[in-house]
Amino acid sequence: MLILFDIDLTLIKTAGAGMKAMGDAGRELFGPAFDEKRTAYAGRLDPLIIRDLIRDNGFEITPERCAAMRAGYARHLPARLASLESLTLPGVPELLSRLRQAPQVTLGVLTGNFEETGRMKLAAAGIDSTPFVLNVWGDQSPHEPPAREHLPAVALERYRCDHDPTFAADRVTVIGDTVHDVSCGLANGCRVLGVATGYTDMSTLQRAGAHRVVPDLSDTDDVYHWLLHRA
Ligand SMILES: [Mg+2]
Repeated sequence: MLILFDIDLTLIKTAGAGMKAMGDAGRELFGPAFDEKRTAYAGRLDPLIIRDLIRDNGFEITPERCAAMRAGYARHLPARLASLESLTLPGVPELLSRLRQAPQVTLGVLTGNFEETGRMKLAAAGIDSTPFVLNVWGDQSPHEPPAREHLPAVALERYRCDHDPTFAADRVTVIGDTVHDVSCGLANGCRVLGVATGYTDMSTLQRAGAHRVVPDLSDTDDVYHWLLHRA
């Protein structure tokens, strides 16, 4: 089976470091009045967040500006992450350690993060990303405009191509903290584990249709057995 983790507020918490680093990039490019706080971030794709940031600050969205924002974000993020402590959420190291030893389980991330900055966040939290072998990053939607709903299909196609052309979508589990994680999994016929370590409470994740919701990932046995139940 294939288990795909969201990053922010599912595996780690970064106290808004990403948002602040995007603000740093914006101020460098557009001037000191650039304000990153009026744009929505949770569960969204970085390429869309960057477009909204540029537009919300009154500038025209161009490919050059988007590329400059992405590069600036990657330059500023390490400093924003360096000042934080205890970025890993409860139970995450234990669960990943169990899952990486489980037979017939492939792990990956399915995230709105760009790869370069997503990997910086995982590294800052001390999470070894070696077990994540099938990863779909925030700029890997094959469609325009990009959407999170497109990403599970990308993962499934890669898995089928690499391992098993008959692999069924319900053997993929998407784990995330927002209704966007839930809806992207459901839209693709995947199982969804909602984890209420972000800004979305358990009942909201349940109402969105998650097959299971947990307050966090700290009950390793329970989460592990639920994940592998249909393996
Ligand atoms: Mg998240």
